[in-house]
Order: sequence, then C-alpha cells, then structure tokens
Amino acid sequence: PAGDTVVALAGLGKEYGGVHAVRGVDLEIRAGEVVGLIGPNGAGKTTLVNMISGLVPPSSGSATVLGAEIGRTPVHRIAAAGVSRTFQHSKLFNRLSALENVLVGAHLVSRPTFLRRLLWLPSARRDESAALRQAARCLERVGLAELAASRAEALSYGDQRRLEIARALASDPSLLILDEPAAGMNHVEARRLSELITSLAQDGLTILFIEHNVGMVLRTCTRVVVLNFGEVIASGAPAEIASDPAVVEAYLGSA
Ligand code: ATP
Repeated sequence: PAGDTVVALAGLGKEYGGVHAVRGVDLEIRAGEVVGLIGPNGAGKTTLVNMISGLVPPSSGSATVLGAEIGRTPVHRIAAAGVSRTFQHSKLFNRLSALENVLVGAHLVSRPTFLRRLLWLPSARRDESAALRQAARCLERVGLAELAASRAEALSYGDQRRLEIARALASDPSLLILDEPAAGMNHVEARRLSELITSLAQDGLTILFIEHNVGMVLRTCTRVVVLNFGEVIASGAPAEIASDPAVVEAYLGSA
C-alpha cells in the first residue's frame, strides 16, 4: 500500500553559472520507501539532496518536502517538518562522547529550555533527562548502546558512520537523507548498514540515500533512481535498474 507523499519534485533544476547540475527532475517519494540515488561523479546527486533538505535553493521547478515548499522555507523549518540528514564527510565532535554527539542532534538546548534553565526552573532538568533518554534510544537503535560513553574518535569507522545516523535520528525525523553512508565501509559494515536501513524503514521512516556501492543499493532499496548529467535516466525496482541498458551504459558498466 502506497503511503503519503513525502517528497514531490516537479521540473526541479539547479544551475551554477550555465552548468546544469540538476535539470528537470520529477520525482515522488512516498512514506516508507527506501530510495537509493545513484549516478556517476558529478551527476548532480549531492545538489539534488541539498535542495531536498533545503540547503540549496532550486533555480527552476518546484518541490515540496513533508508539505514544506523548498526555496521558500528556511532550512530550520524544513528540519522541523521532519527532514534529517547526514553528510558525506563526517561531522562528529571527536572529543565528545557518542551520547553527547547524539544530544547535539536532539537540539537539547531549545530556546524555552534555555530560558527555563536561566530561571532555574525544574522543568529544564526534566527536558534534559527526556533528551538523554531519547539520545540513548537513538544509540541503541543503531547498535551503539554499549559505546555511549566512548569518545567519538575512539569508535571504529563503521561505528562512527552509524553514530552519525543516530544523531540524525535524534530529531525524530520522518524523512532521513543519508549521503554515501557506506563510503569507506568494509563488506561486513556495509551489510550491517543495509540491515539497519531496512529496519528503520520497517519502523516507518522514509529514507533517501546517495550511494556508490551499487551492490548495497540494490539489496537495500525499494526503489533506485539513477541520475546522469543532472537528469533522471531511470527509476524503478532494483532488479529493473540492474538490467536497464541505459543504466548499465551510463553507470553500472563503468563502476
Ligand atoms: P559526486 O558523486 O562526485 O559527489 P554528484 O553526483 O553529487 O557527484 P554534484 O556534486 O551534485 O554531483 O555536482 C553536479 C554538478 O554541479 C557538477 O558538475 C559540479 O561541478 C556542479 N556543482 C555542484 N555544486 C556547485 C557549486 N556550488 N558551484 C558550481 N558548480 C557546482
């Protein structure tokens, strides 16, 4: 059964001084889908997810994400609507513990909490312990409960990447966007990541991720979208995509 529309893109484009990074993209993502975005280097994948997460305004077309209109909605409002993401390059705080890194994602010190804390009201401490419990749940969700007190820099590479996902979960998103989550992972770590993504989707999250590890994409996604020169050249179930001649020529063949 198809879920509600989470992302709706119509003719979405982004131009950088004459370079069409993304051009005429029509795409709908429904609740509960796990969509993998693949394509050669420079195909426009990062630009597309940057637009969807509200970081980069489109030059043409229209897009709504969880009801928010991209290009007219400030990025923090898009986050508040339920969009959360990780980045291609780790943005962890190395010297903070795993738990503290997740708390950063939970925006622990919201403005009302800050004011209440200034006034020394007990509700501020209540909010804090709720945030701690929520952060601990996020760590547990990605299998890092035992490492909550370890510094981020002491975690293995695969654990660091999962910690980034835990942090992205801390804001309790509906749409989770992952930018090359398996990059640099070994085979075992990538498999474990696949299982995590699948189980997050089973919990009702919608997931969009960019990934170069095609095997991982094909076994994890419900749908694969292929970009080439800024345009969608194919979109379909993993098995369809793997045998699509245009995809094989543009991407899989050279991978
Ligand atoms: P990769 O897999 O290497 O990360 P990608 O598919 O994510 O590539 P983008 O990074 O979105 O591709 O880039 C698409 C095109 O847009 C490229 O030609 C790139 O040089 C160009 N581009 C992206 N961002 C900018 C920018 N800020 N200014 C100018 N050109 C840009």
